[in-house]
Order: sequence, then structure tokens, then C-alpha cells
Amino acid sequence: MNLYDLTIHQAHQLLKDREVSSWELTEAALKRIAEVEEKVHAIVTVTEDLALSQAKQADERIGSGDSTPLTGVPALIKDNMCTRGIRTTCSSRMLENFVPPYDATVVEKLRQAGLVMMGKGNMDEFAMGSSNEHSAFFPTHNPWGLDRVPGGSSGGSAVAVAAGETIYALGSDTGGSIRQPAGFCNVVGLKPTYGRVSRFGLVAFASSLDQIGPMTKDVTDSALLLNAIAGYDPRDSTSANYPVPDYTKSLLPDLKGLRLGVPKEYFVEGMQQGVEEAMRAAIAKLEELGASVDWEVSLPHTKYALAAYYIIAPSEAMANLARYDGVKYGFSYQEAESMWDAMEKTRQYGFGPEVKRRIILGTYALSAGYYDAYYLKAQKVRTLIRREFEAAFERFDALITPTSPTVPFRIGEKVDDPLQMYLSDVCTLPINIAGIPGLSIPAGFSDGLPVGMQILGRPFSEETLLHIGYAYEQAAGWWQRRPEI
Ligand code: GLN
Repeated sequence: MNLYDLTIHQAHQLLKDREVSSWELTEAALKRIAEVEEKVHAIVTVTEDLALSQAKQADERIGSGDSTPLTGVPALIKDNMCTRGIRTTCSSRMLENFVPPYDATVVEKLRQAGLVMMGKGNMDEFAMGSSNEHSAFFPTHNPWGLDRVPGGSSGGSAVAVAAGETIYALGSDTGGSIRQPAGFCNVVGLKPTYGRVSRFGLVAFASSLDQIGPMTKDVTDSALLLNAIAGYDPRDSTSANYPVPDYTKSLLPDLKGLRLGVPKEYFVEGMQQGVEEAMRAAIAKLEELGASVDWEVSLPHTKYALAAYYIIAPSEAMANLARYDGVKYGFSYQEAESMWDAMEKTRQYGFGPEVKRRIILGTYALSAGYYDAYYLKAQKVRTLIRREFEAAFERFDALITPTSPTVPFRIGEKVDDPLQMYLSDVCTLPINIAGIPGLSIPAGFSDGLPVGMQILGRPFSEETLLHIGYAYEQAAGWWQRRPEI
């Protein structure tokens, strides 16, 4: 097996047994980056020197017997999480040269655990998109079909894991940005409960929806990574002061006694047949593992989630993005005639078309006269969706849905049609609206392209999701497939 194909737990074992060093793992990942990066374009900034110096420190730490499961294991950080001294671009011209003076809490936690940072992952600009085509720098390509999108917005993170450029990655998810690219690239992506992981140092998109989470090769790694990043943070007032269990304890191989529901609204019109077939086979497997499955659950408000999301997310985004005025930090237009001209031109040249579209949508939705009709209405819909999930979780331990209605689409196929692009997140958006956790795991292939299965649970039930994901993954084995690039 190639070193770059290892999982975190496999790498940790080899490091502990001194069969491999962090330096060797890091060199293998760097070599892999040199081999495949010109084809997949997953990374905005490769931090080679930093990675090697961190690997050296990690090897010393492992030598002294003081290591954690993550010590010395190569990682990629999505480029919307602040990294001290390393530019954090959000894949935007606006932040192209922004070097944060501090680390995001998640990065700080990983540093304490023995981080080896390979670089910063490409994304849709400011995390707005589902294909990585909205990166201001370059689109990322799916290693399962180089003419296909990897999903987004954490497409760089998903591809780097799938292609072996890193052993694990962090992504962020506002409406599906961890789960959808994970599903498109045959990796495991977990969006934790809102508040489970600190958002301090995450460049804000839509603050009531954003959440950071693990992107890994298997479910065990997801549990290990969540162990390291979850928990209360006084610097994020929305982070939850709720105990963090050892998530690896929930990785059990059978599902006896678990009650699962399959909401029929997630088998939407326009869903590809290959995805539906893979999903039915995957759910049958869950039954074989001992779970009881109700195939006829109904969540009728699901159909309003997309509309509510595209009011709430742009409204919050337009407020969050008001800070980019060319004065405090980031891009600043220098040849302006006046202060207003400087701000206008800074935003004209600094933001790409999708970001501008969101700012305009949000400004409209919040403007006097429309606030009640749009924003307030969307918030009411949000409450209904949350209650509907609460009621379902009185009867079920988890709900099972596809992660996306389609397999990865072609680059260029939807980029000029925002509505089509927005529709690719119909299965993932409701989860952020409700604030509940969602896990996407590899669930098969259709015409050689990955299909993801989404597992949903009540707030702070990550253990249940990881349990189900683990049992399925062990029985089905899809996660072991690697793309040939
Ligand atoms: N694709 C969705 C959007 O464009 C979700 C993105 C995300 O989760 N960051 O808003």
C-alpha cells in the first residue's frame, strides 16, 4: 500500500511502532502532490517547508512517547480557516494576499495535537457554491473523472483526501459543503451539530448555518478528528458547552435495535436512477446489519428548505461581507477618486460574480418593505423544518437519505445556471437549517462515479451517526476504492 493511501489510524499505528516516520509520510504526500496536483488543482497554497518542519517536530514528539492519534499525520485545511502566518484566501481576490495574525481555534487544536499542514484547500469563493467552479483562482477536478466537478465548496479538501495529497482534511459546511463534495469524491464527510465545533477563525459566510467538520477516508478517522476539534470555545459565543465523548467508542459493527427512517421527500424528482439504485441497496444493507427501516417517512416541509436557505444564507452573507471595504484588510483599490469610489471599486474587483449575486439577494431580502415577506417568512419556515425533524427523531434514531440527487456533474454544466447549481444541495441544506448533524459516507458507484449516503440525527447525536456509518462501511467496503489518476 502507498503511504499516501493510509488512514489516520493506520498511519498512527505505523508511527507508534516506528515503522514509518512523520517525515516519510510527509514526503510521500508531497511527492503525491507533485504527481497529481497539475491534474486535480485541489490546493491553493502548498506549505512544503512548514509541513517538513512540523513533521520533524512530530517525530521528536513521537520519539519521546507523547503523541496523539493525529501527531505527525499530514492534513489539509480548507482555505477559509485562519492559519497564522500562512495566507488564507477563501479562494477570493479579496483575500488573495491576506495573512492572518492568528489561528482558527480548530487549527490551534490541531497544532497542539501535532499538526503537519500540507497546505490550504481550494474552495468556491467564500464557500458559495457546489462545484468549486466559483474559486477565483482555478476549478478543482474530480479524481474519479477529471472532466467532472468535485462538488463544493470544500472540493479541494475532498479531492486532496481522495487523491492521497493528504491523509485527512478539514472542511466547512453551510448548506452541504462538507457532505456533498465528500459524496462526490468517495470520502467521509461529517457536518457536526451547529455549535459542536468552534467557528472562531473561520471566515464567516452565514453565521447561523456555518460549521467546521472532518473530511476523511473512513469513519474511524472522522471520529478521531472530531475528538480533536469538538468542544466549547469561549471565543465563539455560539459554541456549545456540552460534553465531548470519545467518539471512537461508538464504532460498533452491528445495528441491532436501531430504528431508521427513510424520508421519501429526499428521493426527489430529477434524481438519477443510478443514485436511487445504490441508495436502495445501501439501505437494504443497513437492514441486514440489524436495523429496522421504515421506508415511508414523510417530512413535508423539506420542499421549502431550498427557498428558505437562499433567503437566510445570502442575508447573513451580505452582512458578514460588509467588512470587506478595502480599509481594514484584504484587497484595496488604490487609484480611487474618493472614499466611496474606493469602496465600490474594491468590491467590484475583489468579489466574483457568485459572491455579488449573494450580496444582492441578501440586501434585497432584508430591505425595508421586503423584510416581512422574505426574511421573516424564511425564519418561520426554518422553525417548521426544525420541528419536523424533532418529531421524526422521537420515532427514529436516525434518518437515511442520499447526499445528492446526482453523481458528480461535468465541469461547465451548471456554472451559468445558478438555480440548477442551487438544486444540487436539496438533500443537504435542510440539515443546516435545522442545525442537526449529518454524515456522508461512500455508498457505491454509478457508471464509475461515487454515490454518497447521508445519515442524519438529533442534535449532538454524532455518536449514533458514526456508529451507523462505521457498521455500514465495514460491511460494504466502498470507502476502500481509490481513484486512478
Ligand atoms: N452550495 C451551498 C451554497 O452555495 C452551500 C455552500 C456551503 O455549504 N458552504 O450556499
